[in-house]
Amino acid sequence: MLAKLIRSGVDILRLNMAHASHQWVADAMWFVREVSEEVGRHVAVMMDVKGPEIRTGVVESPIQLECGSEIEFYVDGVEASSDVNSVSINYEGLPAEVNIGDTVLVDSGLIQLKVTGKDDFRIRFEALTPGELTSRRHINLPGIQVKLPALTKKDKEDLREGVKAGIDFVALSFVRESDDVKILRRFLDSLGSPARIIAKIEDQAGVRNMEHIVREADGIMVARGDLGIEIDYHCLPLVQSQLIKTCHAEGKPVIIATHMLESMIHSPMPTRAEVSDVSHAIREQADAVMLSGETTTGAYPLESVQVFKDIIGSIEPSVSQALNERIVLKEPKAMMLRSASVLAQELGESGIVVFSRSGFLPYILGALRPHGIPIFAFTDDESIFRQLLLPWGVEPFLIEFSENPEETIQSAMDCLRRKEWVEVGTWLVVITNALADDKIIDTLQLRKLEADQDS
Ligand code: PEP
Repeated sequence: MLAKLIRSGVDILRLNMAHASHQWVADAMWFVREVSEEVGRHVAVMMDVKGPEIRTGVVESPIQLECGSEIEFYVDGVEASSDVNSVSINYEGLPAEVNIGDTVLVDSGLIQLKVTGKDDFRIRFEALTPGELTSRRHINLPGIQVKLPALTKKDKEDLREGVKAGIDFVALSFVRESDDVKILRRFLDSLGSPARIIAKIEDQAGVRNMEHIVREADGIMVARGDLGIEIDYHCLPLVQSQLIKTCHAEGKPVIIATHMLESMIHSPMPTRAEVSDVSHAIREQADAVMLSGETTTGAYPLESVQVFKDIIGSIEPSVSQALNERIVLKEPKAMMLRSASVLAQELGESGIVVFSRSGFLPYILGALRPHGIPIFAFTDDESIFRQLLLPWGVEPFLIEFSENPEETIQSAMDCLRRKEWVEVGTWLVVITNALADDKIIDTLQLRKLEADQDS
């Protein structure tokens, strides 16, 4: 199935650390790289660490709750009471942070519990809704900022494993302020990891501080599962739009996540509302759309990916062709990318060729949104190559760079011709360094893809 998913066009795989052991991470990473090699198409891996997220522990069998049923949460490591159904929680501070009468939401708000009693280590609840409590369900306390650190001990252990295994992105859950991103960045630096940071916006503090967070992070995930519980659910589309616009202004990629095709966990067809929701994300010009349960426990993973592709294929051509007007370009070289985009769009059937060791230029090009123009990004760095799978419109290639810029351009052209990305005779806009006397200068060139001299 993984091979089929990669073949069908999936670009990034997410490892959700709410459900993963360290051995599983190592095995999954090995497996992903093996299968990618076999398929001949590489994908990036994003480790999603849970940050200050509170979850219930493992239950041996699902706990059935009726309205009025009693249930107890106990802090991991202490003994559970024997007179009532109980489940552990991963946050020892929770008993102190809830008050009798408070409502606590579990499992995306599907289960509502009212606090009826507590001591230092246990909380008693009365169920306000019927439901089934399974293992490791998420707990939400809307509006309450829990005192868990941005990066927990478990996150650090998970990251050590992930970095060893070669993850490309880290998604950090419940980012509340830009300092949370800085803490993660320092930790990744200390491990020598080049992974890019995706800040998940999923609570009120994250929404309040979105501008600073977007500036600090390498990308944003609109984590609508938790966000839709932590804020008024009917404001979710407004916050999604605000986040997308903020990312456009900062030139950062944005991922729209959760419940995109939720019904396809059980059904081969999406609902009409889901089709509209995915279309909306495409029209608003998100960089990526994400599947969760649809491609893990769902019965129709491949069909879900196909539905995404069909919707993107139909909607994308109807999106305004205008370049991103919100983005503020600071560096002269970044400004040159806007000219390259205009030129390529004027040429029509064209493409932009860009060379990058850091990923900076292709990320900005994607953020400029040159509709109808593929961005062919060449790099000689394997991890940058995989990180280039995220931004809008970028098609990455891994090649060797030569000391001589002209040789590098020729191997890029070769690659586009060989892999049939571009037809011979097509005009391409090339952004590259060139030697002028002894100086290296930035240039924007117009090149026609010539036929292979050897064929
Ligand atoms: C979400 O809440 O929407 C989300 C993507 O996070 P998780 O899958 O960790 O719940």
